[in-house]
Amino acid sequence: MRVGIPRALMYYKFADMWVTFFQELGAEVIISPKTTKKIKQEAVNIAPNEDCYSTKLYYGHVMAIKDQVDYLFIPRYGASDKRYVGCPKFIGLAEVLRSMFPNLPPIIMPHYNTAKGRDGKLSFFFKAMKIGSMFTKNPFKKIRALRLALKKHNQHKKDLVIDEKTLYKWEQSELFLNDPPNSNHGKRQLKIALVGHSYVLNDPYASLDIRTILKEQEVDIITSEQMPRELIEKQMDKQNFQLYFYYEREILGTIMHFLESKTVDGIIHIMVFSCGPDSIAGEMAARFSNRNPAVPLLQLVFDELTAETGLKTRIEAFIDMLRRSIDAQITFQTTKVHV
Ligand code: SF4
Repeated sequence: MRVGIPRALMYYKFADMWVTFFQELGAEVIISPKTTKKIKQEAVNIAPNEDCYSTKLYYGHVMAIKDQVDYLFIPRYGASDKRYVGCPKFIGLAEVLRSMFPNLPPIIMPHYNTAKGRDGKLSFFFKAMKIGSMFTKNPFKKIRALRLALKKHNQHKKDLVIDEKTLYKWEQSELFLNDPPNSNHGKRQLKIALVGHSYVLNDPYASLDIRTILKEQEVDIITSEQMPRELIEKQMDKQNFQLYFYYEREILGTIMHFLESKTVDGIIHIMVFSCGPDSIAGEMAARFSNRNPAVPLLQLVFDELTAETGLKTRIEAFIDMLRRSIDAQITFQTTKVHV
């Protein structure tokens, strides 16, 4: 049996786990191709107008594989943390797709939410076994598939998220955490924190390949998803408000850390148009940055109309300003741009 997984949203967090699980159960896994103009176009044509750009892209990825698979896997993911939640869109998407497009293949849509003690290890196990039963009757095969899937997921997290010691080494320029920046123009190398959702940062089309643009501009980056979780929580604990969105805590905590530590030359925050959680985190980040302007913050809002040329010009201008301000020892304020 062929199981289709759209390459969008939570795929970028859980791909290893999902793919291993289904493959070990004996299924063939079809992942939608990387985002292209065609996928975006289809997505924009069929997705509800009020959806955020990232959710719209999900529709395009579903359409790209729907005719090649027996099942679609669209989990209704609430949270993996007891206190904080993901985005409500992750929970509702499978049902919305099913009601909008009744001819889609059957959707495997387990609901998983640990927030407020709803789900735990045991319910996770039973939910996984229930899905496994669709593919095999052999309980050992199902348990083995789950064990290997979790192992892959833990390895992925271990490879991605750094510890404080590694962060310190990066800040001291003792190592690179991503592709090393180009150095053929002989310009001053800069350090920038690239902050945003994993499904934007890791999708070259959705992010208009901002990583390559920065690399060409001789910028060494760290991303918010690489940041040590303890540092993020330490920053968030200092606030007198609770931000309940898990991934926005990662975003805001990263920005606050670098505004305070001043160990980067600048911060680029990519926001997604019409994302509610992003608007809250973005507004908070802008306020902190205005109070703490030593590290310039550039906030870019992306949507389906964002063009690569416009973005490139913005980034080049920002980098240029950073280099000049370092030389002249001056600071400049937060800039928010809808590119
Ligand atoms: S967090 Fe924002 S960008 Fe992500 S799916 Fe939700 S609304 Fe969209």
